[in-house]
Amino acid sequence: MRQTWFAERSAALRRLSEFVPKAGNYGRTRNTDYGPEGEQGVSMLSPYLSNRLLSEAEVLEATLERYAPSTIDKYVQEVCWRSYWKGWLEMRPQLWQDYRDDVVRLNLRRLEDPEFALRLEAAEEGRTGLDGFDSWVRELREQGWLHNHTRMWFASIWVFTLELPWQLGAEFFRQQLLDADAASNTLSWRWVAGLHTQGKHYLARSLNIFKYTDGRFSMRGKLREHAQPMQEERSYERQPLPSADVALPEAAFLLWLHPDDYGSGLEHLPLAEADRIAVGMPRWMLAEEGLSEQAIQFQAHCSEDVCVRIELDYGVRAENVFNHSIESLTLWSQQLELQHLVAPFLPQGWVRDRMYPCWGSLGFEAHYLLREWDRLFWPHARAGFFQLKKRIPELLPEALSPALF
Ligand SMILES: Cc1cc2nc3c(=O)[nH]c(=O)nc-3n(C[C@H](O)[C@H](O)[C@H](O)COP(=O)(O)OP(=O)(O)OC[C@H]3O[C@@H](n4cnc5c(N)ncnc54)[C@H](O)[C@@H]3O)c2cc1C
Repeated sequence: MRQTWFAERSAALRRLSEFVPKAGNYGRTRNTDYGPEGEQGVSMLSPYLSNRLLSEAEVLEATLERYAPSTIDKYVQEVCWRSYWKGWLEMRPQLWQDYRDDVVRLNLRRLEDPEFALRLEAAEEGRTGLDGFDSWVRELREQGWLHNHTRMWFASIWVFTLELPWQLGAEFFRQQLLDADAASNTLSWRWVAGLHTQGKHYLARSLNIFKYTDGRFSMRGKLREHAQPMQEERSYERQPLPSADVALPEAAFLLWLHPDDYGSGLEHLPLAEADRIAVGMPRWMLAEEGLSEQAIQFQAHCSEDVCVRIELDYGVRAENVFNHSIESLTLWSQQLELQHLVAPFLPQGWVRDRMYPCWGSLGFEAHYLLREWDRLFWPHARAGFFQLKKRIPELLPEALSPALF
């Protein structure tokens, strides 16, 4: 197995510095998936960006220090896609709720309908007889990561060739991917199905697969290459973006870093002001979310790494909550005698679905810190990506060091 994602910031920074000299070729190399044994032409930084062991700003500062914005415009845009999806979902909270409900409903159908259950099982275990698809299932399960183009083919084959519900495909990805991100994942599946831009879907074609897998797969004659886009009755009205508290509470508080934002380099966080610090999400919550053991271990190591860095760099002890049960967490938080909790903003997603009620039941009044990056980019995710894309040249100088422009 070629790739391993060490859940440490030092490993993320190393991978970034290895990618920077290659970033100038990204526009040419990004579409080909050379497979788990080949050298990819993409940065493979997503597990770090999703958990924010590394920030979007850091990645773009490192690449823009070496290249003119026009040389790496494709790369800059891809990083901004992540912010686009997050902002878009944040303005449509009902969509995330519907997705969660749909998954419950479809999992019930799975229990009641043996034929449906068998078809799902064959797809999830890589026994469809489609060599490329089956191989991608193994790769996903073994590595917790797939190339972007492969994710597009995978989702398209799941929806249009295997005729399985997009929600269960998205759920399969969410539980296996180390970079699983509620917004990027759910909305990319919808985009492939033709539900994001109505009437516009993504069809996997065998010739395209042959070309961009370096001849490894084609599945010629086996794909439904002329299927119609999916349609749905539901539509999602845009809601205002929630405002995040930016002022710290006057009273003593607990700072809690979580898997949606581990605080990258930590320097922007009120570590000195916090009375106590907690990091991570308990194992039992991750297990209840159905995450693969590999994804759970990734989170365990992320929180460990953050705790160690806080102790080394700031000389304070942080509580790693990974091994806490609900009982020990309750006891621990009672002993703190703190009423206020400060955390990086919790966007729509399963981390929020879990942490919100947990913090409520522990009796904390929560305050959120919205990153400057998100505050700048999210409001431009109102409609299509193009609206955000055209603002990138004016947003970047505000979001990054002005010396780069
Ligand atoms: C069906 C489907 C599901 C996906 N699920 C996720 C997910 O759960 N989490 C996730 O982070 N990405 C997801 N993506 C987006 C994309 O595939 C991955 O971010 C990308 O493959 C990560 O590889 P990389 O770091 O080498 O990306 P690079 O190409 O090197 O890009 C750099 C960074 O930009 C961001 N990025 C790049 N492309 C996209 C994109 N299309 N959408 C959003 N962000 C992007 C990522 O943070 C990535 O690390 C999904 C795409 C599809 C089609």
